[in-house]
Amino acid sequence: MSKGGAAVSDAMLTVKDLKTYFYTAGGVSKAVDGVSFQISRGEILGIVGESGSGKSVASSSIIRLLPAKTGKIVSGSIDFDGKDVLQMEKKELLAFRGRDVSMIFQNPMTSLSPVFKVGHQMVEMICAHQKVSKEEAYQMGEEALKKVGIPDARRRMDSYPYELSGGMCQRVIIAMSICSNPKMIIADEPTTALDVTVQAQVLGLLKEMRDKNGTAILLITHNLGVVWQMCDSVMVMYAGKTVEYASCRELYHNPLHPYTWGLLDSMPKLSSDSEEELKTIPGTPPDLRLTGTGCNFSNRCPYAEERCRNQVPELKEIVPGHFVACHRQGENQGLVRGGAL
Ligand code: SF4
Repeated sequence: MSKGGAAVSDAMLTVKDLKTYFYTAGGVSKAVDGVSFQISRGEILGIVGESGSGKSVASSSIIRLLPAKTGKIVSGSIDFDGKDVLQMEKKELLAFRGRDVSMIFQNPMTSLSPVFKVGHQMVEMICAHQKVSKEEAYQMGEEALKKVGIPDARRRMDSYPYELSGGMCQRVIIAMSICSNPKMIIADEPTTALDVTVQAQVLGLLKEMRDKNGTAILLITHNLGVVWQMCDSVMVMYAGKTVEYASCRELYHNPLHPYTWGLLDSMPKLSSDSEEELKTIPGTPPDLRLTGTGCNFSNRCPYAEERCRNQVPELKEIVPGHFVACHRQGENQGLVRGGAL
């Protein structure tokens, strides 16, 4: 199992102290500010956090897919199976994306070209990464569509993306991943645009890939329900930083960071009274151009004290394998969820 900051020998992906900044006319936005994590073969790591927490930028940084003019990895290291991703030349990087790592984006319609048929796009992708003829690639594509449960796969190969539903398109994207049999899949909110029944199918497919092929999966989501269902470990991000990192089981039973408590409290509960108002975390995340002087959560945290505003909390291992970045945890009298302020 991977752990924030700890060395794990069987790690497939090791990200250390990653900093990805955006250089805009308004200043430097610290989208990812010193994040470390590891993923082993066959592990599913979930990254959770609200919009703007840096989870998507962290995952795009792994395949160096950032806006060329504004986004920059300013420091840190990304090691994948012994290869230094940040030192890869263009050709090696193109082979790495798709062959070693596949990415599934939130909106399948933007991942597929609207002007080419599904079969054409699958053949192109397969031929780009494998030494096979176009006929063989077409056959592989059709087989992959069948595997992801697309009925009448041959006809779908001959369809344009706009002729398919959103769920069907997402399955096409997953079928493309299956064809290249990647070592790792990065799935960025893969089910957000889908209805619940298709969501369950897509998540089931990802789990099947892990179980059958040992594929590692980095799952970006804002949905803790999906995390409990899918992940082995989970990293909670807030305003560009890791605030909590643990096994899924440990985080579920013993969450320690006030921001994680806020996320958990804002989840609807099946048992709760339907009249009961859903809790929210008051306030808004800080401006990422102005972070770095204290705890990024201090303007919203009910437990904040003076040092929270002027000292950045370190990510500390509070119990074995459970890391938390909060001044008030790991002390003699740590904070208790729902306890006195
Ligand atoms: Fe709250 Fe302070 Fe802990 Fe930040 S460091 S989460 S502000 S108690």
